[in-house]
Amino acid sequence: MNTASTATATNVQTLYEQSAPRQPQIHLFETEYGPHALMADGSQVYAVAPELVAALEGLATPDAAQVDALLATSGLASETSVFMADLNPLTNPPLRALSLAIAQKCNLGCTYCYAQAGDFGDVAKSMSWEVAEAAVERLFEDTQPGDRVNLSFMGGEPLINRPLIYKVTELAMAIAQARQVKVGFGITTNGTLLTAADADFFERYGFAVTVSLDGVGATHDRLRPFKGGGGSYDRILANLEPLLSRARQMSVSARVTVTPQNLNLRETLQDLIDLGFHSVGFSPMLSSPTGKAEMDTADLDIMLQQMIECGQEFERQTLAGRRYPFSNLTMALQQIHRGTHRPYPCGAGAGYMGVSADGNLWACHRFVNDAAGLMGNLEDGLNRDVQNQWLAARQVDRQEPCKSCWARYLCGGGCHHEVIHRGRPACDYIRGWLHFCLQTYVHLLEQRPEYFASAPATPLAS
Ligand code: SF4
Ligand code: SF4
Repeated sequence: MNTASTATATNVQTLYEQSAPRQPQIHLFETEYGPHALMADGSQVYAVAPELVAALEGLATPDAAQVDALLATSGLASETSVFMADLNPLTNPPLRALSLAIAQKCNLGCTYCYAQAGDFGDVAKSMSWEVAEAAVERLFEDTQPGDRVNLSFMGGEPLINRPLIYKVTELAMAIAQARQVKVGFGITTNGTLLTAADADFFERYGFAVTVSLDGVGATHDRLRPFKGGGGSYDRILANLEPLLSRARQMSVSARVTVTPQNLNLRETLQDLIDLGFHSVGFSPMLSSPTGKAEMDTADLDIMLQQMIECGQEFERQTLAGRRYPFSNLTMALQQIHRGTHRPYPCGAGAGYMGVSADGNLWACHRFVNDAAGLMGNLEDGLNRDVQNQWLAARQVDRQEPCKSCWARYLCGGGCHHEVIHRGRPACDYIRGWLHFCLQTYVHLLEQRPEYFASAPATPLAS
């Protein structure tokens, strides 16, 4: 092991130790502003007295009753009780977001792709107008004036079926206006087919455009080649110019799937911010259909170290009053500040569903053609029994080891698809990252509280 990797291992191991699960009710952490705690119930951050820290750390084999007694004596338990959310499993949630697998085919051949090079392990196909129209009508079916829904286009590569994207967007906007419902649009694209006309269209409808990029230049080309061979990076770069230059209403984000081959996150983040993306986010590849490019423990150690270096740069820039759109951290800080307290990792299988080209309804875009997430179809409707059972089983407090993990209401238990297919190989990484985010939260709140001025939330309590 060389010096750099020894330093990496040491830093990350310290973080793992500090963020290890001890008491499910509370997580203690230190900054130069003294000891703080995240109360799991309610997701509130408090400055805490050193005496409480000593008492909690002094418990030989802490059980829930002992910890509860200390928290009650300190007053923290009653402070938190007002922030408690409903933790019962969701039943019959209203549908508020759909993603359409508008083209189950792709022109790239990424080795790790959850959609198996675009066709989800089936015959390559495109969604028909009839299926898309039925999906949009289903999305608005239960809405009332003032509600908000979201429609996104995915694939494969959705722009292979461009005319349908345009037509469906116009239909959804017309229905939204007639029903006085707000609609947001999104697309996740590999960027190779984007045109200036697409940029105009996405701008007109205020799309959230996410471009999948796994690095810059040769790094990206190795991971995301064209099916016939050859790199895709130069083509994407040329296509990005009209998109980034026209963006006023639309947002343009880069999403990086992190594999063992592109762990240089710090450099990638800077390069993609310099290109002009409005936000840049990283997501580890934890479960691929072939097992190729999945992250193992050593890879996650390196990723955590890199994420922290990205986060430290975010903090430096933010304290200097400059915007630094590292979305993993900006989103985590918002969630901590708002006291986000969620019993699921996302809206999959609840308010959000994926529609496949053949009109089936799936828990999300990633479950297309996967029996573990089949929820019904557009013709016969959503199977509420299947949905409610799925949601009941997947609630974070019913998962092991989540129910005894302090991070459970910030994490939500991990991506359902990855957990079902690979388990939970990244818990140390998740807790280490959240521990760092909590420390950054306290730094910013102490040194630049105006950063949170626009986020409705509870301030740091003491
Ligand atoms: S998946 Fe999340 S909540 Fe569950 S044990 Fe891992 S870090 Fe904790
Ligand atoms: S289950 Fe996973 S892939 Fe699907 S929406 Fe949730 S986090 Fe995303």
